[in-house]
Amino acid sequence: MRACKNCKAIVYEKKCHVCGSTNLAKKFSGLIIILDEQNSIISRKLNLKQGEWAAQIDE
Ligand SMILES: [Zn+2]
Repeated sequence: MRACKNCKAIVYEKKCHVCGSTNLAKKFSGLIIILDEQNSIISRKLNLKQGEWAAQIDE
């Protein structure tokens, strides 16, 4: 599991499925999971879409 340095998406492949970037970080702190972007306060606050996102990238 890696985190995209560009958009902070959690990536399981070699390339980010959200923005297409290959600039991925192995180290990141925290995981934000948005299940329902319409009804999520965190989603609106952080402007994140549905999916898994890194809270902070360490690399
Ligand atoms: Zn990305």
